[in-house]
Amino acid sequence: MDLELITVGTELLLGHTVDTNGAELGRALAAAGIRVVRRTSIPDEEAAIRDAVAEALRRSGAVLTTGGLGPTRDDVTKKVVAELFGAPLQFDEAIWERLLERFRRLGRPPAPSNRSQAEVPRGATVLPNRWGTAPGLWLEGAPGLAILLPGVPTEMRNLLHHEVLPRLAARGGGRVVRSRVVRTTGIAESALAERLAGVEPLVAPLSLAYLPGLAGVDLRLTAWRLPPDEAERRLDAAAALLRERGGEFVYGADDDDLAALVLAEARRRGWKLAVAESCTGGLLGGRITAVPGSSDVFVGGVIAYDNRVKLDELEVGAAVLAAHGAVSEPVALAMARGVARRYRTELALAITGVAGPAGGTPEKPVGTVWYAAAMEDTAVARRYVFPGTRDEVRARAAQAALFLLYRLLRGGASG
Ligand code: AMP
Ligand code: MG
Repeated sequence: MDLELITVGTELLLGHTVDTNGAELGRALAAAGIRVVRRTSIPDEEAAIRDAVAEALRRSGAVLTTGGLGPTRDDVTKKVVAELFGAPLQFDEAIWERLLERFRRLGRPPAPSNRSQAEVPRGATVLPNRWGTAPGLWLEGAPGLAILLPGVPTEMRNLLHHEVLPRLAARGGGRVVRSRVVRTTGIAESALAERLAGVEPLVAPLSLAYLPGLAGVDLRLTAWRLPPDEAERRLDAAAALLRERGGEFVYGADDDDLAALVLAEARRRGWKLAVAESCTGGLLGGRITAVPGSSDVFVGGVIAYDNRVKLDELEVGAAVLAAHGAVSEPVALAMARGVARRYRTELALAITGVAGPAGGTPEKPVGTVWYAAAMEDTAVARRYVFPGTRDEVRARAAQAALFLLYRLLRGGASG
């Protein structure tokens, strides 16, 4: 079935709150075989809510809203939708009792305004909210289907999974919307599109989307409204085709994290890893230690920001630094070898670059990064000029360094 999403909240339009409900609902509904055909964010204003809900119902026949179910004056979603359905609000003793019970448990008296949360449009199904005070509502009538959920993300999520999805699943007709992601890095979106030229008709009826991000370009395949086993079969075949076409730039699927994959490869060999970071200042170590269980591979590293630290801690030669500058191939290689020697590890990564926004020169513009990977007696370095802000350059550099080591470990980046 098709459904429109409306997220209600002035804070969403002011940008004070990011609409995570919209994103989460999109994923969860798709997985349940429901196609979200439109998503709108509107302020806590009666007229705006009335217009948006009425329009959505006219267009699609089904709407799910979040927000505006609280007890305060700016929470008007329920009142407006009740009017649209011609269903007057009625005080529901059972809900009021549950609310009082909740307040007793928390040792607080309810506010007079909480009474409004026990009002239910006539004929609506109440979706009990054990995680907060505002119950969800399910209205069906001449205008169509309207599902009202609270805006607080944990309450929205719990009501969605406990109350809404089971009711909607009965309407999905046994069909699902399912996605699979093939993750690539180290290749630009345009170059990747060239490698994959002509692939769309081969994966049809699945759709293919390019999603560039700091970790690389993700390729998302989506099966729309297919029986679950057919969706899985087609996704498997299409993902295999993308992996083959993407070649050495493909590193994983779905939520795979390159740091975790590097650690797994190192662990398999019983090897240890150390890092030496200049412009990333610990970001790489952060990525690695974010992976649970990293301690059996990762020993630590040196944040060699100032040249003095490169000299004293990593034994990068003063002559090398003077001759080539800190952002150079010999320095990146010396940093990687230096930290591996110092911590007696088989593996090491090093990063040195110009993260910007200042410090660029014609020969080494902002974004220039040299990164190196060492594996036993082998060491390789690469130079790349990364686009973006300081944060983006640093994040891309960390990912690129991990990818270099990953390929070295898999035998694809020597020389
Ligand atoms: P409400 O149900 O409108 O009273 O919303 C309560 C709180 O939930 C708001 O103050 C926001 O912090 C949060 N919230 C509301 N809508 C959203 C949304 N679409 N995404 C994420 N958080 C939200
Ligand atoms: Mg609100």
